[in-house]
Amino acid sequence: MGDKEYYPPRGLRDIVGREAYVYEYVFNEFRRISRLHGFQPVLPPTIEYYRLFEEKSGEEIKKTMYVFEDKAGRLLALRPEVTASITRIYLRKLRGEVKPVKLYYVSQCFRYEEPQFGRYREFWQGGLEVIGVKDVSGDLEAAYTASRFLDALGLKHKYIVGNVAIHRSLMKGYGIPLDVQDHVLHLIDKSMIDEAVSVLKKYSIEAGMAMKDLLSRSIDELESFIREYKDVLVDVDRVVFENERLIGFITSLRELGYEAVYDPGLVRGLAYYTGLIYEYKAISSKLRISIGGGGRYDGLSTVYGGPYEYFTGLALGLDRVILALEDGFSLSRGLDAVIILSTDIPLSYGLRIKSLLEDYGLSSMMVVVGKIGKGVRLASRKAARFALIIGRREYSSGSVSVKDLSSGVQVEVSLEALPLYLYSEAKT
Ligand code: AMP
Repeated sequence: MGDKEYYPPRGLRDIVGREAYVYEYVFNEFRRISRLHGFQPVLPPTIEYYRLFEEKSGEEIKKTMYVFEDKAGRLLALRPEVTASITRIYLRKLRGEVKPVKLYYVSQCFRYEEPQFGRYREFWQGGLEVIGVKDVSGDLEAAYTASRFLDALGLKHKYIVGNVAIHRSLMKGYGIPLDVQDHVLHLIDKSMIDEAVSVLKKYSIEAGMAMKDLLSRSIDELESFIREYKDVLVDVDRVVFENERLIGFITSLRELGYEAVYDPGLVRGLAYYTGLIYEYKAISSKLRISIGGGGRYDGLSTVYGGPYEYFTGLALGLDRVILALEDGFSLSRGLDAVIILSTDIPLSYGLRIKSLLEDYGLSSMMVVVGKIGKGVRLASRKAARFALIIGRREYSSGSVSVKDLSSGVQVEVSLEALPLYLYSEAKT
C-alpha cells in the first residue's frame, strides 16, 4: 500500500487482537444462554427494503438510516435494528410453528449517528424475541434470559421500566394525530418534557396538562391516574392490562434479586412499542448510557400485512456490554500450544498432533522452522502455554518435547500421553 494508509469509514472499526477474542466470547455466551432458555437462532439479511423500516422505526432512527439504491433501482437500507426483519421472517417462514416462537440473533446494525464513546455506525445487537405470548410471562422470560447472560459475564445491571400504552391511549383520547403522538414521544424520550407538553397544547390544552400530570406520577399512582382519566383514555381495559403487566414485570424482577425502577419519562426511540418498555443499565460502570432495551410490540405483524400477533423482545448492545465489562474482564484462555516442527519432519505429523489436542479442547498453531530456538521464541511471543518441539529425535521415537513456557521446564512425552499430560498441566 506504500505510504498511503487505508482506514475504515468514520464510525466503523477494525476489531482485532484481545478485543476480537472478547467479542467472540461474548457472542458465544449470548448464543449459549439463549439456547439454554429455549430460543432458536435466526440469521436475517443485513440489507432490507427501505420500506420495511420506513413506517415503524421512529423519527430518530429513520434520520440515521443508510439508504441506497441497488443497480436495479431498488430502494434498500442497511438494517438499523432487527425486529422489523424478525417480524417479516416470522410472517413468511415461521407462522406455522407451534407458539410460543422464541428466537435469538446476534447481528450487526448500522446507524449514521455522530460517533462518540459507545456509539458507532456499525454495532452488534444480541436480540431475543418471543412471539405468541399475551401475558407478562413472555416479557419476563426474554428479560430474564438477557439478565442471565449479563450475570454469566459478571455484569451487574438494573432495569428502567416504563409503559407507553398509557401515553398513547391518553393522546388518542384527546384526538392527537398519530404522527404528532410519535413526535411527542420522541421529545419525551429526549427529556424535552416542556417542548412535548407545548406541542400537545397546540392541539388541546387539556392533553398537555394531562401528559404533564402522567409524567409526574409514581408507579403506585398509576392506578388512580387511570381511574381519573377513564373517560378520556381509549380502550381502558387494555390500559389497565398493560399497567398490570408493568407492575408484574417489576415485581418478578425484584423477586429474582434485580433492581427495577419505574420511569414515567421512558418511552424509547422506536415507534413500534405498544405497552411495556424497558432499558438495561450497567451498575457501577463508567458507562452511563443504556446497554440494551426492549418491550412489547403487539400487532407489529399487521403493519407487514399479517394477522395480529403478540410480540415482545429486547436487544442488547453488545459493544456497550463489552465496554461496561471494562478491564476487570479476563478471558479464561488464549493459545495453549505452538507446535514447532523441524523442516525435515512430515507436515502431516504436526497436523495430526493438532487434531489430538483439538479432541481435548486445547488450541494450537503450527510453525515449521530450521532452528528450534526460533520456534520457541515465537511461541513465547504468541503467549502460548506450551511449546511442543518435534525434531528428528522426537519424530523417530514417537514423542514430543513439551516446554512449559511459564516455568521453563521441559519434558519428553509420548504421543499417546501428550493430550492428557497437557490437559492436566494446563489446568494447574
Ligand atoms: P435500540 O434498537 O435503539 O433499542 O437499541 C438497543 C441497544 O443497542 C441500545 O441500548 C444500545 O446498547 C445499542 N445501540 C444502539 N445504537 C448504538 C450505536 N450507535 N452504537 C452502539 N450501540 C448502539
